Amino acid sequence: MGTHTSYNECRMCGGTSFLIEDTHYDSTEKHCLNEKCGYYFVDSGTIPDESVMINGSGFRTPDEFKEFLDEMEWKKCEKCGVVDHDYNEGSPDCENCETEEEDENRHDLVK
Ligand SMILES: [Zn+2]
Ligand SMILES: [Zn+2]
Repeated sequence: MGTHTSYNECRMCGGTSFLIEDTHYDSTEKHCLNEKCGYYFVDSGTIPDESVMINGSGFRTPDEFKEFLDEMEWKKCEKCGVVDHDYNEGSPDCENCETEEEDENRHDLVK
């Protein structure tokens, strides 16, 4: 409701940045998905102060980046390093890597 999410280019590293815009609160958030960069920009618009987690811009440390992924319920694939939310429950790998592995192991499934 009024919140739009998309991706754009991080203006610091040129990598993929996650963009959240809320037309209701007139807010804009950008979160770089490159953990080596960690750039974020948050303009909280008219969101009430008590619900604002961060405002302004800066760079996340690798620890803060991990916390951010946890907050978003996102993961960084341990195989290909892609940050995404399409993960199978309990798996450290993204769906792409999971699928590949299943394909590779299919011949082992002798019944
Ligand atoms: Zn960046
Ligand atoms: Zn992967």
